[in-house]
Amino acid sequence: MSDWLEPHVIASAPGRVNLIGEHIDFSQGFVLPFAIADRTTAKLRKRSDDHIRIRSVQRPDAVVSTSLSELKPLGSGDWERYVLGVIWSLKIDEGVDIEIDGRVPLGAGLSSSAALECAVAVGLNQLFDLNLNKKELALLTQKAENDYVGVPCGIMDQSVSLMAESGSALLLDCRDLTTTLIPFDLAASDLELLVIDTQVHHALVDGGYAERRGNCESAAQKMGVVSMRDLSSQHLHESKDLLTDHEFLRARHAVTEIARVATAVELLKAKDFVELGRIITASHNSLRDDYEVSCPELNCAVDTALAHGALGARMVGGGFGGSAIALVARDHIAAMQSAIARAFDSAGFTTPRFFTSLPSDGARVELDHSAI
Ligand code: ADP
Ligand code: MG
Repeated sequence: MSDWLEPHVIASAPGRVNLIGEHIDFSQGFVLPFAIADRTTAKLRKRSDDHIRIRSVQRPDAVVSTSLSELKPLGSGDWERYVLGVIWSLKIDEGVDIEIDGRVPLGAGLSSSAALECAVAVGLNQLFDLNLNKKELALLTQKAENDYVGVPCGIMDQSVSLMAESGSALLLDCRDLTTTLIPFDLAASDLELLVIDTQVHHALVDGGYAERRGNCESAAQKMGVVSMRDLSSQHLHESKDLLTDHEFLRARHAVTEIARVATAVELLKAKDFVELGRIITASHNSLRDDYEVSCPELNCAVDTALAHGALGARMVGGGFGGSAIALVARDHIAAMQSAIARAFDSAGFTTPRFFTSLPSDGARVELDHSAI
């Protein structure tokens, strides 16, 4: 469109994969995600009025035009709410034009939503000289998704999209939000992470996540601890009689998963990828058997990957569909993809999508002409 002038600022932010630490963010646990190479770019330009215009290469039919006074949390709209939510949470009080180009696959569990929010937030921070640090930006982009879009996500996706560094994973303590970079140089070991997007999303019939979360909370209460973070495996086993079967299983997932993240950090430091693979697979087994959030497609992806030489594999994200990951020697990736595609075909499942990735850099300003 000819009236979209050259941007003043260009910023970009990546999607992410969580290596390990699943369904324990609300138990004050640890997560260990890394940024993927695919990024979303936001081009921003100040306006002289209070209008907002947004467009996305991925939504070619829609140019959204609104104004600062019309921003309304939980209002109607579609994808543009992720962008408007960030303008709202950063309390921007001048008009702006924003063009998006997202290369993070949408809806594949790679957090294209956080990549979009963080690219916009870093761009606005630069354009309007807000001087917000990355932790503040993480909290504000999470607020945009929680309170403006209405998705109750945790802080992991935005934290890693903002703070990641190439060749590292980011250990995030969900209790105090401190972060530590952990060396994760897959490329130097000729390994890659294969993401298998099952492309299915099974509806939950039994109250799903709320029930599981409630089980963890009631188990913690019965055992007299604030959260699973404060619970030892010994305390859990000694308290088994106090708990319902479900409470015990959900708590066992949380306690063992928190321990697995700590072990994974040590294994990464020691570059022991074989043992790391075993820990990743143990996480899958726990999600499948104790937390009970896997599904036949995810199990098929994991089992086939392991049968074809993956060092480890697990479902990632909420479960009941979405993606799985496998830690694989680079030379095996192509053969493994065909094996998984064949296994899905013979089981009558939807054809999966595949992505590979290496730990990459977090959000950054790509161009800054804001002072001009
Ligand atoms: P995920 O974050 O796992 O990719 P979500 O459902 O949380 O899945 O977020 C995907 C949504 O984010 C899309 O449906 C769309 O509304 C929005 N989105 C992400 N990237 C873009 C983009 N480049 N252009 C337009 N909308 C986008
Ligand atoms: Mg998302």
